[in-house]
Amino acid sequence: MTKIIEILTKKEFERQDLISLLKASRDEAKPIFERAYQVKKDCVGTKVYYRGLIEFSNICSKDCLYCGIRLSNKNTNRYEIDEANILGAAEFAYKHRYASVVLQSGERTDKVFIDKVDYLLKEIKKLSDGKLGITISLGEQTEKVYRRWFDSGAHRYLLRIESTNKELYEKIHPNNSKHSYEERLNCLHLLRKIGYQVGTGVMVGLPFQTYENLADDLIFFKTFDIDMCGMGPFIEHAETPLYQYKDQLASQKDRLFDTFKMIAILRIMMPDINIAAATALQAIDPMGREKALKVGANIIMPNITPTLHRKNYQLYQNKPCIDEGADDCTSCLEARIVLAGDKVGYGEWGDSFHYQKRTTKD
Ligand code: SAH
Ligand code: SF4
Repeated sequence: MTKIIEILTKKEFERQDLISLLKASRDEAKPIFERAYQVKKDCVGTKVYYRGLIEFSNICSKDCLYCGIRLSNKNTNRYEIDEANILGAAEFAYKHRYASVVLQSGERTDKVFIDKVDYLLKEIKKLSDGKLGITISLGEQTEKVYRRWFDSGAHRYLLRIESTNKELYEKIHPNNSKHSYEERLNCLHLLRKIGYQVGTGVMVGLPFQTYENLADDLIFFKTFDIDMCGMGPFIEHAETPLYQYKDQLASQKDRLFDTFKMIAILRIMMPDINIAAATALQAIDPMGREKALKVGANIIMPNITPTLHRKNYQLYQNKPCIDEGADDCTSCLEARIVLAGDKVGYGEWGDSFHYQKRTTKD
């Protein structure tokens, strides 16, 4: 315990410090969590910002070995929500003062898809008088496409690096040019160059992943100078290749605990970034997202995908709230956030302070 307390007094953590913090037991982790919540309070405050999540299609051209909607999973019912219904969901977000939406889907690079996203971005801006913030999470695209979507109104992009360790990255993706580690990194650099607020993150508790890998992920976030982060526990899906390693994984409870430690340590290392309480946390513990707020997260992405389609966007199993409508989620969520001691920043974009600082400085 004294070792943890000692590390927490340092201004900068070395790699070995990060590893020790990540290995902390439940008792030892308490001061890490308390410190992280204090840093959050002091630097970004206790307002939680909503990003209404619209999972508008599960059609995907990639085959990531962990993901339930991968191309080769023939048991998935594929869907694509039409423009009117996506815009309807965005309107719901606007009316309920969510201030931002996230458009997410499987990865596609065909023209029809690119044009559709472009159209949606412009229409969402129109229907909200420019007021709804738009985050997109649509995988790897060319610089031209990223730029076009940026010009049409998207200003934040989420692209998880999944793991910054190249060897591990290659173990959890097929070995071909469509799943290249270098390309993933390159995309993150492009997004930054174009001017997006860039969000990335990793899955925690992947097969073969070590605490050393996670420490390196944290160092990468800091060195890359990210604006936003989303990290969630890896959750095995029976219809994916990684399922064969299910007996080698840490328990789901431990993966959740390790994710909380990642969030807390990152909050201490990068006090002014936005950190999301990912939906996958809730798949393991019904209060998973609220607990993440207590250890440093400040963003929640309520699912506002039209209910009919939710059950088909199963990146992992036990996905929460798939039978509920957006209205049900809104009413229960606020009460839970307030219970956790935070409040909702209705009607505010809640952009990353980090991004604001670095762009006024540049
Ligand atoms: N196609 C886009 C966006 C959808 S996937 C993309 O890949 O970026 C969004 C995130 O879901 C991924 O980045 C991954 O980290 C997460 N994910 C996929 N399968 C998962 C699983 N089995 N357990 C936990 N998270 C998973
Ligand atoms: Fe497709 Fe994203 Fe799933 Fe990979 S993680 S298979 S790109 S939806």
